[in-house]
Amino acid sequence: MIISQHKPFEEIEELLRGCEKLVLVGCGQCATACMSGGEKELMEMKEELEGIDKKILTYIVPETSCNYLLVRRDLKKIKNALEEADAVLSFACGDGTQTIAKLVNIPVYPGNNTLFVGEVERVGLYSEACRTCGDCVLGVTGGICPVTRCAKSLLNGPCGGAKDGKCEVNPENDCAWILIYNKLKELGQLDKLTEIHEPKDYSRQAYPRNLNLRNQDGGGR
Ligand code: SF4
Ligand code: SF4
Repeated sequence: MIISQHKPFEEIEELLRGCEKLVLVGCGQCATACMSGGEKELMEMKEELEGIDKKILTYIVPETSCNYLLVRRDLKKIKNALEEADAVLSFACGDGTQTIAKLVNIPVYPGNNTLFVGEVERVGLYSEACRTCGDCVLGVTGGICPVTRCAKSLLNGPCGGAKDGKCEVNPENDCAWILIYNKLKELGQLDKLTEIHEPKDYSRQAYPRNLNLRNQDGGGR
């Protein structure tokens, strides 16, 4: 899931300087699940914005705001409001916000900061587990990502700086390589630690990435 969080209200206020009439757009998927862009949050934001004399013409929560066709369909339903509005304030992730921006000819401002691809541990508790590197190594690390969960993204074992099982860079976090060791031990796969791994192909992280399944013969760039 893409984890996003509201920008501080003062930042939103600054972004909207000079805009009076607004349309709010959320997202029915990730932003709803992480409580940054669902109907409830849009209603709360509407109230806050009205408190600083903004006029909210309407608001919508598309089913999936990063799906171009779905967003285009939903924006058509609020065509009149969009014609009257000075700007759209988006509470989707950065991807959804850009999808919306492609489809309207007024400024689209982000109400959210997009933080990371995260695992939902519990409602309201999210942790980053994958940096979408395009060259997954989980098969040799016991299903624990060293790229994301090791502060130095080390691929061939620990740096040696861990103290009491915690990372030397951020002692709030467990050392990823101790977790990997313990998991491989549990799986009876400690031999995997003796394999030396070549540097990863980080060219697969060269931005922007695209995937076209229509004429694909393998590969993902
Ligand atoms: S190795 Fe890459 S693709 Fe696999 S979990 Fe880690 S960041 Fe994600
Ligand atoms: S202490 Fe562990 S998690 Fe932290 S940088 Fe070193 S190997 Fe990576």
